[in-house]
Amino acid sequence: MRISRNRHWGHPELVQFLERFAPLASQATGWKGILIGDMAQPRGGPLPFGHKSHQIGLDVDIWFMPMPDRVLSAKEREDISAPNLVAADGKHINDKIWGSAAIAFIRTAAEQPEVERVLVNAAIKKELCRGKSTKDQSWMSKVRPWYGHADHIHVRLKCPTDSPDCRTQPAVPAGNGCDKSLTHWFADWILRLKIPDASPSPSAKGLTLKDLPSACAAVLNAPASPGNAATDERPGLR
Ligand SMILES: [Zn+2]
Repeated sequence: MRISRNRHWGHPELVQFLERFAPLASQATGWKGILIGDMAQPRGGPLPFGHKSHQIGLDVDIWFMPMPDRVLSAKEREDISAPNLVAADGKHINDKIWGSAAIAFIRTAAEQPEVERVLVNAAIKKELCRGKSTKDQSWMSKVRPWYGHADHIHVRLKCPTDSPDCRTQPAVPAGNGCDKSLTHWFADWILRLKIPDASPSPSAKGLTLKDLPSACAAVLNAPASPGNAATDERPGLR
């Protein structure tokens, strides 16, 4: 989705994950397929707006919305939006849309062994904690609350085994995450924070290659692979 953003690029392991996950999610939810939002830019690197993550090709946003039973046009992929699963107060889910498919979707993502974390809005995590999912610590521990994420999940994969410079994220705390670390998200000042998706990312502004790990130079200087040259253009980094 939103192909004009040119963020449909990822590490080969992310692409393989999505190809494997799509039929699993479809089976678990009854959806025809999944709708994939931002991955990374060609060759990765800081994004000019929208996220601080999504830089190394191991992050993907997947929409809380079934793929329709036809191929969407390029215009539809720009215009259609996923429904908001969170109520206006930020504390509850939207009952009209929430249901067993949404739970199965999150669960299937979190159950995959290569997935390190699944980020969802705190109200969604709270709803999972109210249900019988609470007992399933193995996957519930990977589902973490974060700002936004009311119309999509963010999946972060573990570091690939052949990437020694890739830093593993801090381990998720033991337990199902239905504890004080969750209630903190419903403090008034946090609920009032508005983080627009299109806000410029301060981290990317004025950044040059020398600000990044040296391994990035090799990635940026590598020749384009055949067939990708036309799309292998990226903003924001010199
Ligand atoms: Zn994301």
